[in-house]
Amino acid sequence: MSDCCSQPGLMPVETARERLLEALQPVPGTEDIPLELAAGRVLAEPVIAALDLPPCDNSAMDGYALRLADLESGKPLELIGKSFAGKPFTGMVNPGTCVRIMTGAVVPPGADTVVMQEQVEAREESVRVSGRVKAGEHIRRRGEDIREGEVLLAAGTRITVAHIALLAAAGVGSVTLRRQPVIALFSTGDELRQPGEQLTAGDIYDSNRTALKAALAGLGLEILDLGILPDTRSVIAGALERAALDADAIITSGGVSVGEADYTREVLEDMGEIGFWKVAMKPGKPFAFGRLQGTPFFGLPGNPVSALVTFYQLVLPALSIMQGGSWSAPQTMRARLLQPLNKKPGRTDFQRGFFRNDEQGMLVVEAAGTQGSHILSGLAAANCFIVLDRDSGPVAAGDMVTIEPLRAPL
Ligand code: AMP
Ligand code: MG
Repeated sequence: MSDCCSQPGLMPVETARERLLEALQPVPGTEDIPLELAAGRVLAEPVIAALDLPPCDNSAMDGYALRLADLESGKPLELIGKSFAGKPFTGMVNPGTCVRIMTGAVVPPGADTVVMQEQVEAREESVRVSGRVKAGEHIRRRGEDIREGEVLLAAGTRITVAHIALLAAAGVGSVTLRRQPVIALFSTGDELRQPGEQLTAGDIYDSNRTALKAALAGLGLEILDLGILPDTRSVIAGALERAALDADAIITSGGVSVGEADYTREVLEDMGEIGFWKVAMKPGKPFAFGRLQGTPFFGLPGNPVSALVTFYQLVLPALSIMQGGSWSAPQTMRARLLQPLNKKPGRTDFQRGFFRNDEQGMLVVEAAGTQGSHILSGLAAANCFIVLDRDSGPVAAGDMVTIEPLRAPL
């Protein structure tokens, strides 16, 4: 499996993503979950409609249910009862009669049309209709939304709030979902401290693991947090071994570059296998993917922006597949660049940008702060990536560029 890491060339980011999508499978196992807790999760089985929706013809208006043919004579209609939502009229609408009806109430047998109350002059026991009335108007038909037996959602669907509304309306109380993968996570670095603790000289806070935990939690994944590890081979080896046993995938930050204390990739190479290392992207070049006793391993660079950009661009698609879902390329847009940007050919740039509509309503974009791989303030201010092709050089103000709006969980 060690093809790319021995080559001097970097793997194009598209190839790296394809390799990941091919290499990963959904984790086994399902669980039944109450519908309201299913948002963001992936269906393990299709959901079939057990009823028609609406379950019966009902009124779309507050008004009167009647027989259209009765209106020809122009005579008033006899008012014989009321149909309310949840309290249907139990009789029959015979010729010459009508029933007061409210929105959502069952249209009583015999009636074929609902006239809205604004068109009706109502007395105690009779009503007179004025204006034009169309046959069958203001009736929501049985089954016009959903048909009994129809597939409401296919297996593999990632459930949204709108899906939950659909399933709830169809009477579904719980759903069978894919088990969530367990993700082992640790960061490496002798300099790292937990936010909230005291820093000593040369230390920095561990922003990567903190942000990644939030991102994984946002995806509903189970996290096996192995904490901050020192730059010590044996400790890293021990953590990797435990992670391979107890988790479905391993995500680490730091130690995948070429420095003298960068042990994570070396240890993985000794204990498992590296699939590829080094991707032609900026930030994020030292990203590593491999396996340890079959468990997928994602080695993120230590630099904070690189860690989150590689997580977003490469690990998220892989996690989506492991969850049983799919992954489709993000929607991009073209925007006019408001300033020149530096760019060297050779790697795909994911520059942090801020896009908006200008006075004419056209999309414009500018850099969100400076672009260093340690500049978290720029990432925090960004609402998109400005994606610059691998082979492109510098871009000028006024050029059209591709932007990729940031989505959850970034
Ligand atoms: P490394 O990839 O371990 O060589 O780290 C590259 C840079 O990222 C160094 O400046 C590290 O101090 C920094 N870094 C590594 N891990 C983290 C982390 N978890 N949070 C914030 N910065 C980090
Ligand atoms: Mg380090």
